[in-house]
Amino acid sequence: MVEKNPLKSSIRYLRGIGEQREVFLEKMGVETVEDLLEIYPRRYLDRRQVVPIRDLRAGTDATVIGKVTSFRMLPGRKSRFVLRLYDGTGELNCVWFKGGFYLKNKFQLGEELAVSGKVRLFGGFQMTHPDTDRISDFNDSEKLSTGKILPQYPTTHDLVEAGLDSRGLRRILYRALLDYSSFISENLPEALLRKYNFPGRRGAINAVHFPVSGGQLRAAIQRLKFEELFFMELMLAYRRWSIRKKEKGIAFVRVGKRTRNLVEQLPFQLTETQKRVIREIWTDMKNPAPMNRLLQGDVGSGKTVVALVAMLLAVENGYQAALMAPTEILAEQHYLTFYRMLEHLGVKVALLTGGQKKKQKEETLKALREGKTDMAIGTHALIQGTVAFRKLGLVVIDEQHRFGVLQRAGLRAKGTRPDVLVMTATPIPRTLSLTVYGDLDISILDEKPANRKPVITTWRPEKNREEIYKFVRKSVEAGRQAYVVFPLVEESEKLDLRAAAEAYEAFRTGTFKGISVGLIHGRMKAGEKETLMEAFKQGKIQVLVCTTVIEVGVDVPNAAIMVIEHAERFGLTQLHQLRGRVGRGTEQAYCILLAYSPISKDARERLQAMKSGADGFKLAEVDLKMRGPGEYFGTRQHGLPNLKLANVIEDAGLLLKARQEAFQLVKSDPPLKMNDHPRVREFFLERYRDKYGLIKIG
Ligand code: ADP
Ligand code: MG
Repeated sequence: MVEKNPLKSSIRYLRGIGEQREVFLEKMGVETVEDLLEIYPRRYLDRRQVVPIRDLRAGTDATVIGKVTSFRMLPGRKSRFVLRLYDGTGELNCVWFKGGFYLKNKFQLGEELAVSGKVRLFGGFQMTHPDTDRISDFNDSEKLSTGKILPQYPTTHDLVEAGLDSRGLRRILYRALLDYSSFISENLPEALLRKYNFPGRRGAINAVHFPVSGGQLRAAIQRLKFEELFFMELMLAYRRWSIRKKEKGIAFVRVGKRTRNLVEQLPFQLTETQKRVIREIWTDMKNPAPMNRLLQGDVGSGKTVVALVAMLLAVENGYQAALMAPTEILAEQHYLTFYRMLEHLGVKVALLTGGQKKKQKEETLKALREGKTDMAIGTHALIQGTVAFRKLGLVVIDEQHRFGVLQRAGLRAKGTRPDVLVMTATPIPRTLSLTVYGDLDISILDEKPANRKPVITTWRPEKNREEIYKFVRKSVEAGRQAYVVFPLVEESEKLDLRAAAEAYEAFRTGTFKGISVGLIHGRMKAGEKETLMEAFKQGKIQVLVCTTVIEVGVDVPNAAIMVIEHAERFGLTQLHQLRGRVGRGTEQAYCILLAYSPISKDARERLQAMKSGADGFKLAEVDLKMRGPGEYFGTRQHGLPNLKLANVIEDAGLLLKARQEAFQLVKSDPPLKMNDHPRVREFFLERYRDKYGLIKIG
């Protein structure tokens, strides 16, 4: 048994932490000393770049350090809180129009304050709502704030209330390091430290909190970022390794007549890219090691038919295949496509969704169990306990970003080491796919079927609404079909549904009088949805009012117009997904984004990006920049740790190195027993075993 690591002890026992602070820190996920040491500064204040007040210039951004000489509330129509700062060269007024009550108790006369913001001239120099950082007070006996480079920490309102503003955190970190620094041990192999000239772990953690020089700080940050990325990649390396080393999976070696027939009878020619991807998949399938492959292709790139061919290959080899899709509408659509293409080849396809009637479901389950059904298409109903296959050989997951790691594993577990193909329309930069899908092989469909014209996209304010619907009406009269999409979010679901229903009524009796209009949303019964979608597909419904239920995968080539109501409320990826529903046929397609004020700056940027004609790949990058990778991917959902310091976009170079080293290590010494590798092993297990139970080591 390893003796208890002091860094794992509760922050409760630290000097300077009482009950209240403990509670607030725990809310931030800080429970142990180690967690505390990993609250990294969000930025650094370099005293050498602080501007003397005398030298300030209006219109520039600047940081000033000075002493508080006065502060007070100024009443009036626009009451405000004014604080005056003096730095020996001049005076600066800091003004707040909000929060005066709270600010009154925040500052002390005579204390030293760093403020950053835009400089304006109003009688004298002034900053409005500057960032403030209390630097020292009268009893800074530990001289924590005299360094040239001053770390500034992220805090929460709670923490500030409890005295843990940036300065407060500096103080408890200082003490924690005094008491615990000696327990910080190295977790990277010596060989790597030497190769990259990284400082040791103890030194790096000290330097990141109390840097002595810029060079030392930079080296420390690089090392800590590398460490973070390295252990994340190590986890991915093990995931992949444990799939690979398992006993044999299935070798699908036969290409039967039916696969050839299917390809010949498709209503279109496969593109070269589709053929290439099918070959990649088939090469994996022939190989006895279980396939674990990601198929990435923008909306409309034709992923479904690739899945169809792969699944037929499995059936030709005497196995069953399953396809899981995130919505009932999509599952039904896939089912109909597969049914039409495969029925005359004698392949038995079944649909399985949550909304089905009991009797029908039971029959399907029986047929799957007995192997009378070759392919199952369904929603997450497929992973329920009652579902069993006789001989499941291939699992396909469509729009995989909608499923969590466990759901994916759930379907895989229905077979004995089946091959797995996951498909996604979320295009992401390569370094990122290495992170998020680091344990998968990747195929990319980067060419769209040839006859497509780009969708013409515009955005319009609400005052143009009538004119837009006139255009829609004209297009529909000319034979096109249209979607009108309404937002639906959980928090305001009732209101959102009502908005869609009211618009539907207004369309039916007014704007689109004489045209057949339908309404579809997620709250409807499965059967109803099915009927409506089928009617839309067959052109019996010309205008389909809908919520985002149609967001993923829906394929109706004659639908060439899409109006998105309240487009300002949608995320960029979602808008792109939605737009992917049109432009699937040969007619020129339009996507009109209708925005209602107030339109935030971010929303405006999103709408503009949609209009710019950028492809999904480009949009994903924009989205990523706006939202940050964590939120963009929901890293949790992928079972990946949250990164505290590294950023997979900005630190892409470092990420690639970390990945290389981690994969190399697992390859050369899987149990991590050689040289000084046990320290890597120990840290890795301690940190990741509990949190991400999916990994096995050595
Ligand atoms: P996604 O990649 O978004 O899932 P789909 O598989 O739904 O795209 O394909 C979009 C549309 O393109 C479908 O109507 C499909 O039948 C059609 N399609 C797929 N491959 C081709 C091709 N090679 N040539 C022409 N149309 C194609
Ligand atoms: Mg699809």
